[in-house]
Amino acid sequence: PTTIGVLALQGDVREHVRTLEDLGVATTRVRRPEELEQVDGLVLPGGESTTMARLLRTFGLLEPLRARIAGGMPAFGTCAGMILLADRVRDGAAGQETVGGLDVTVRRNAFGRQVDSFETALAVDGLADPVHAVFIRAPWVEEVGPGVDVLAVAADHPVAVRQDALLATSFHPEVDTDGRVHRMFVEMVG
Ligand code: GLN
Repeated sequence: PTTIGVLALQGDVREHVRTLEDLGVATTRVRRPEELEQVDGLVLPGGESTTMARLLRTFGLLEPLRARIAGGMPAFGTCAGMILLADRVRDGAAGQETVGGLDVTVRRNAFGRQVDSFETALAVDGLADPVHAVFIRAPWVEEVGPGVDVLAVAADHPVAVRQDALLATSFHPEVDTDGRVHRMFVEMVG
């Protein structure tokens, strides 16, 4: 059966696990390369992208994860997870590394101080009704490569994108009980 991993180095791991389990998907937490090898797809949670990138290197997961993504493993990043999947980051910490794979440029903490965090009803391509989107010191996408589909826009910037087996959102569908964005990813994992 299909197993979806949740990268469990830092961030809102539990919320993703709960959302996937509510959809009836077998889920496992990924902290080591051996665990990464077992999964059919991986969720990269929200949290702190600089910390997660550092921990990925410390735990010896950065190169294995890059290799699996290059090999076509589906991955879904939310917020900090979107930053980790991005090929290019603006306003990153000095020397901030990413996993990469998604041909986009993201800007960290893009929505600015006065709207650090906000919630909105957001139309997402492929979903019949808007989702309740929660943004928490969220990035947005500033440039997309030719293979990237924009699925949702807020403040004139893409906030949900898909490229082949990679899905990323600036917001946190895992903090809601909706499940439709995760289901989209589950269908990508197949
Ligand atoms: N601002 C965080 C970062 O740059 C992301 C915030 C989040 O994941 N909620 O990593």
